[in-house]
Amino acid sequence: MRIGVLAVQGAFREHAAMLRRLGADVVEVRKPEHLDGLDGLVIPGGESTAIGRLIRLYGLEEAIRRFSAPVFGTCAGMIMLDRNHLGLVDLEVERNAYGRQVASFEADLPLAGDAEPLRGVFIRAPRVLDVGPEVEVLAELDGEPVLLRQGRFLVASFHPELTDDARVHERFLELVREQEAMSVRP
Ligand code: GLN
Repeated sequence: MRIGVLAVQGAFREHAAMLRRLGADVVEVRKPEHLDGLDGLVIPGGESTAIGRLIRLYGLEEAIRRFSAPVFGTCAGMIMLDRNHLGLVDLEVERNAYGRQVASFEADLPLAGDAEPLRGVFIRAPRVLDVGPEVEVLAELDGEPVLLRQGRFLVASFHPELTDDARVHERFLELVREQEAMSVRP
């Protein structure tokens, strides 16, 4: 499996390390042509304003909109995918939505379909204000969605690449396998 990690700004190295640990071939994506032949793409956390400017500058904005395989966005990557940015996931998100004193924190998150909770690392995290009808919630924090799926898109407001727990990345790779199985069917 060849998985791209958008590598213009932010926590791309940590995602790459996690994906390699799970056996994927990782491609750092900095130009539109780097998306060719990829089975999936990760948009990491970082600073969404910077990521937005850089992808426009490098011609990646349109290329990501045209990319047809699964995409996983974490934190700033989730913001990039929302209604107000790339418009690929039907979500309304508020940036830096946790107050100053709790701007960064960790919490145990019950994960749908799994008995073991997930450790969520939240760093100046966005908050999901509204979701469209196609969006499925996979984990919540205090009743608010923090891990969501819409078809081939997976988004997290926290940083699963910053813990040793690979379950969220595993779910993304499962999504990639599912999409592949669907696309080879006649
Ligand atoms: N606060 C950042 C933003 O608004 C996101 C933080 C992160 O990705 N850890 O883009």
